[in-house]
Amino acid sequence: MQPVKIDLHIHSVLSPCGDLLMTPKNIIKKAVKKNIKIIAITDHNSAKNVKVTLELARDYPITVVPGIEVETKEEVHVLCLFKKLSPLLRLQDYIYSNLPDEENDEEIFGPQIITDQNDEFVKKEKKLLATASLIGFNQLVNRVQKLKGLVIPSHVDKEFGLIKNLGLIPEDLSLPVLEIFKKTQIKDYLQEFPFLQEYNLIKNSDSHYLDEIEAQIEIILANQDADNFGINELFAFLRNRKDLIFLC
Ligand SMILES: [Zn+2]
Ligand SMILES: [Zn+2]
Repeated sequence: MQPVKIDLHIHSVLSPCGDLLMTPKNIIKKAVKKNIKIIAITDHNSAKNVKVTLELARDYPITVVPGIEVETKEEVHVLCLFKKLSPLLRLQDYIYSNLPDEENDEEIFGPQIITDQNDEFVKKEKKLLATASLIGFNQLVNRVQKLKGLVIPSHVDKEFGLIKNLGLIPEDLSLPVLEIFKKTQIKDYLQEFPFLQEYNLIKNSDSHYLDEIEAQIEIILANQDADNFGINELFAFLRNRKDLIFLC
């Protein structure tokens, strides 16, 4: 049995709250050092550092899942992950056209930096990213699923979380996976909300600093080679096989 460490929630320098050391290359190197096999870059309402991360990752033994953390109009954070870059960029266009027409104030929120292949700062995103979009939760889920992406509501039990903010999980949507805050004991949380047993609960680091990058879960592969475990296998695993997720 081989464990595969994953961390599907990491913010780069593009997120205003992300530390200035959170460049794509630094993130990749840190994750490799921590033996993490699959990561996702999930910046707030933007995916403009994902392409460069995918390119840089080719030189390392790691898989990068194209992703984004969208804030809906109900102020719910949602991880949207894709097998490929192009549907993510289509979602990004949709989000940008549904962000309030406001500029980022660096003094208040911090800078939003886009990097290049040399891992250097090249541009700043002017649009305010640390804000709610005009997209409703259901609307977002439908859009991502049409693009064949995987929706994972973030830190559902904390601020900006689905359960915390909406108090429920919409039943008419197919949402097999939920992210629980990394410090919450899943056992205790399930005791409080037993209906969550039917969901696939995962944890990620939600890193904003390099030192926070750490796999919160491992996937145990019974009959599969860890080296051949990529994005397709991960998505199938998360969508279907809740029984084999193992907490670090
Ligand atoms: Zn969040
Ligand atoms: Zn986050």
